[in-house]
Amino acid sequence: MRIFLKDIASDLLSEYGNALADHCVVFPNNRSILFFRKYLSELIYKPLFMPSLQTISSLLSGQSNLKEGEPVQLVYELYKVYTETGNMKKSFDEFYHWGEMLLGDFNDIDKYLVDPDLLFTNLADIKEIDQKFGGLDENVIAIIKQFWTNFEVSNMTGEKKDFLNVWETLPAVYRNFNKILKSKGLAYEGMISREQVEMVKASPAGWKEEIHLFHFVGFNALNKCEKTILGELRKSDRAKFYWDYDPYYLNNRDHEAGHFIRQNIDEFPQEKEYYLNRETGCRIRVYSAPSEVAQAKLIPSLINDTVVNDNPNETAIILADENLLVPVLNSLPETVRNINVTMGYPLFHTPVYSLVHQLLRLHKNRTEGTGGITFYYNDVINILQHQYVIFNFPADAGSVINEIRERNLLRINRNSLLLNELFELIFTDVFNNRTYLQDVLSKVVELFEDYQAEKDGNNSRLKLQQEYIYSLILPLNQLSLIMEDTGMCLGIDLYYRLIDRIMRQVIIPFSGEPLQGLQVMGILETRSLDFKNIIFLSANEGKIPKSPAGNSYIPYNLREAFGLPTIRHSDSIFAYYFYRLLQRARNVSFIYNSSTDGLRSGEMSRFLLQIKYDEKYAAAFRNTRFNILPAARVKDRIERTPLVNEAISSLYLDGGTSKYLSPSGINTWISCKMKFYYRYIAGLQEAEEVLEEVDPLAFGNMLHHVMKEIYFPYVGKVLSKADINDILSGEANLGKMAEKAFRKVFMKNSPGEIRGKNLVITSIIENMTRQILKADTKYAPFEIVSLEENYKGSVTARVNGMTREIPLGGNIDRIDRSLGVHRILDYKSGADSVEIKDIDSLFDYGEKNRNSAAFQTLLYCELYMQNTEVNSLRPSLYPVRKIFDDDFSDIFSVKNGEGRGSLESYAAVRDTFLGGLMKILSDIFNPAVDIEMTSDSQKCRYCPYNMLCNRKV
Ligand code: SF4
Repeated sequence: MRIFLKDIASDLLSEYGNALADHCVVFPNNRSILFFRKYLSELIYKPLFMPSLQTISSLLSGQSNLKEGEPVQLVYELYKVYTETGNMKKSFDEFYHWGEMLLGDFNDIDKYLVDPDLLFTNLADIKEIDQKFGGLDENVIAIIKQFWTNFEVSNMTGEKKDFLNVWETLPAVYRNFNKILKSKGLAYEGMISREQVEMVKASPAGWKEEIHLFHFVGFNALNKCEKTILGELRKSDRAKFYWDYDPYYLNNRDHEAGHFIRQNIDEFPQEKEYYLNRETGCRIRVYSAPSEVAQAKLIPSLINDTVVNDNPNETAIILADENLLVPVLNSLPETVRNINVTMGYPLFHTPVYSLVHQLLRLHKNRTEGTGGITFYYNDVINILQHQYVIFNFPADAGSVINEIRERNLLRINRNSLLLNELFELIFTDVFNNRTYLQDVLSKVVELFEDYQAEKDGNNSRLKLQQEYIYSLILPLNQLSLIMEDTGMCLGIDLYYRLIDRIMRQVIIPFSGEPLQGLQVMGILETRSLDFKNIIFLSANEGKIPKSPAGNSYIPYNLREAFGLPTIRHSDSIFAYYFYRLLQRARNVSFIYNSSTDGLRSGEMSRFLLQIKYDEKYAAAFRNTRFNILPAARVKDRIERTPLVNEAISSLYLDGGTSKYLSPSGINTWISCKMKFYYRYIAGLQEAEEVLEEVDPLAFGNMLHHVMKEIYFPYVGKVLSKADINDILSGEANLGKMAEKAFRKVFMKNSPGEIRGKNLVITSIIENMTRQILKADTKYAPFEIVSLEENYKGSVTARVNGMTREIPLGGNIDRIDRSLGVHRILDYKSGADSVEIKDIDSLFDYGEKNRNSAAFQTLLYCELYMQNTEVNSLRPSLYPVRKIFDDDFSDIFSVKNGEGRGSLESYAAVRDTFLGGLMKILSDIFNPAVDIEMTSDSQKCRYCPYNMLCNRKV
């Protein structure tokens, strides 16, 4: 396979031999220089002085006394000029995007040698156009007229007036901006190009006089400055040109790929033709993939199919969408050992971007009070879980996160976070926006370096992360300098927005060397290079050619008239990149994303459509299909394998553990066997999360806590009506007890004020407690027998044909005694009721209104009876939502069957209850009873396992 740059290297050597030292070979980009140097060195067998190898921009900037400013710096200088000249009152962050756009326009104006005074003239008076543009082509004047006709006084709208107001200030802004930059020795790229044009014109022979001959290699679209410089050097016999093209598109005057090359050959003829007819036998295949990532997943098979016998150096993966870089790198087969990445990768997609956001959010939400500085728990957790932090201090991060969750801390005191040198920087007391981010990021880099020095000398993943960080530190430093120089004070909100805008523009320039292995590159990096095998991803319309960003204040018509680049210009450039790649390659695979999700059109690039109907390319088009499986989920039914049965038996039957089945465990089984399996057999605990608001469980716990606190001094004693009234009248201070319960249950005894809706919640608890006490006055006098004590017992059931004792147990909220009757009492803060359809319904898997609270209380009765042999027992329920009702009763009422009517004694229903209970217990241990998901999807609504079951509710 012939290679363009190799041919040039060979010809230069054969024509000039050893006398290349005073030659300069100029390329479109750095990548071409690296490849050219490689090819040249492969052809050299004896020492020689190398020619100077330059990109066009390094050639121009190398001759200038001006230094190209960094984007942040330039936008800031422009902001200052614009504020003064344009009388604008925007903040710097609001101006930033507009500043970048204006800078781009000034860049184009200079590169295309446009007179800004002429361009930015208000020509609403059409007659002036002929006077001002008399020397121009008639078509150009017609375009200018067409544009300004819209601005006739009769046509004027508010928007047009606003446009003109800005438009008229731009010549002065341009002039002042250039003046200020020059006085500081700074410039933007176009400004340097224009300056160099003046210098070359003044002395074509004297410009870079140490160079005898310039060789311009592999260019396509040249701007006006470049053309002028090439023209001046040519006139003084100091330039040669080498164009790379295929006659296929060159000779077809309608073909956009040859648009610029035709102009170049006319203006700057070459001595020898370097074109190559497209290699015959090139196999082109086009694949449609159903998603972005599916494109990357095709790579292994394409590599194995086409590259297996080739040197990997001859293969390039070209990404029209840089976002695919990570999926591509993760999809490469292990057989590919060396990978060389050359492309710009947006910082936006790296972990640095998220860390900076989290750090700034942390300080945005911090508060300072008498107890010191506190941070919001979510910000702290996000930072501690960030890969850069947890990698370096996993134990410290873990211990803080655990403490936050265990103690339900909503605000974290800074002093408790200073566990290491990185945390001290992150959770700094003084947030200085000139140094904060740099300090934290530099510390992360230092820690990565220490790690590598100690453990792993050359960890490529850490090195990559370091590169990400370095690429941000530079613009951050520039912003700091600007802030220092100007005394600019940015509040954290403004700073946050500005940093975000800056970060979104940062592109990390990956440039791999040496040139070994598979090349992964962006489209721009392919200029002048040739590869035998090409895999081209995201060959979609909108990616190649790229959709116009529309970032210009100069209207399209005026751009066209003044010869500034437009969309057509960019389409021709991309067409050239596309067709040039096909000139010498042997295997080319294009992949495009055919999905129409979101804003995607799923269309292949127009260039692919062109080759589809061009038989010369004989491209094969294929659809790729993947078996898309739904997200993995647990089956509806878990098979009762010996392992599962053994797990259940060993928990409750084998006596090896002290575990027992509680009423809530049995209720869970009856409600959903799968939930029982997750919680009790598989031991899947619900993730402990920090509660920002009191949930029903926490509310119930608080209420239980207060009731226990009130009656605890009376255990074993008889409480009279008067005693309860004393409690009610305030001696025990119910409000304080409610507050104490709130602090214990919700705040996990952390210090802090109870404010806002939490105050309302404590007052609701106090009211409910008061109401329970009032209900108790009606039952008094009674003796408190026990409070929240644990009772254990057992029930016999048939398990696998044998009679087994099944251990049962639970904590009973309260047992009291009055007139010889023991009340087994349960407080409920939910929507429970004392109505029971019939006792059998308590064991009915399909019963929608099954009374689980009644089941629980009856089981407690059984446990208490087994422990005490007391027969006179009454189940009692305090559903506190109903306790305010006039007709409130704690006595269960059975509608049908055994015990029908008010349930005054457990004994009345005991036999039926035990019969149902034994049946359920047998089911739990019966291998023939499947463990399956409930058929009532309403139960899944608040189930913590609904993600596992894929139950969308
Ligand atoms: S999500 Fe539904 S089916 Fe799954 S365990 Fe929970 S209640 Fe059962």
